[in-house]
Amino acid sequence: MPEGDSVYRLARRLHSALAGADLTRTEFRVPQLAGTDLSGCRVIQVVARGKHLLIRLKADRPDISGQLSLHSHLMMEGRWDLYAPGQRWKRPAHTARMVLETATMVAVAFEIQQLRLLPTDQEHEVVGHLGPDLLGPDWDAHLATGNLLREPQRPLGTALLDQRLLAGVGNIYRCEILFLARLHPETPCAQVENLDTVVSLAHRLLQLNKDRTRRVTTGLAHSREPFWVYGRTGKPCLRCSTPIRQIALGDDFGATERDCYYCPACQKLEE
Ligand SMILES: [Zn+2]
Repeated sequence: MPEGDSVYRLARRLHSALAGADLTRTEFRVPQLAGTDLSGCRVIQVVARGKHLLIRLKADRPDISGQLSLHSHLMMEGRWDLYAPGQRWKRPAHTARMVLETATMVAVAFEIQQLRLLPTDQEHEVVGHLGPDLLGPDWDAHLATGNLLREPQRPLGTALLDQRLLAGVGNIYRCEILFLARLHPETPCAQVENLDTVVSLAHRLLQLNKDRTRRVTTGLAHSREPFWVYGRTGKPCLRCSTPIRQIALGDDFGATERDCYYCPACQKLEE
């Protein structure tokens, strides 16, 4: 699943390719938008909200008026490609869900989900449930910290992934944040003494990586190892050499189990 920083970069890439241009042809291969034609609409802006993508359009046709937003989510498999007109697609055509064409560009979304068209002033219906966005203009560290304490006994390792509490953290950052804060993934939120420091660490990590093409949490000193723990099961901890461990972490608050990586020596569970 993509992290907030990759959706942020995607939005920026789509924005520079499409913003200001009129759509010459559109195609929607999802039942809820079958037959929809947005040709003639102008792309105003492409923005990320947490891990959600919003393409804002200005309609200037007799049959549609005002500003519209195309909402989508990449989920696990979603990808976007940009092509020159007539260029052969790199992915199977039957996995395409949306095609947006301008005079100079063809943007194709493959296997995206939650595709919806709605008036821009109603975007809250699709992103209003999100907590403060780590990469958004509405970032509010105080609110995010308060949200994490809403369910005090919830493990921090699953709470960090709950986009309703704060938006943008995926599995890689979840693991890396916990390691850097020296916290066991199952530590209840209420037991974390410096929760506001953990929240600002999350903010700093995503901000640092939002302009990079390669995600790194270890810094240049460990440039051959971009991550402290993520995906490093059995390999020595870069700090203490203890083998990194992997657990399936879920909780009783609605989180589905996801693999979580941590160092059992650096990240002890306090009794
Ligand atoms: Zn360690």
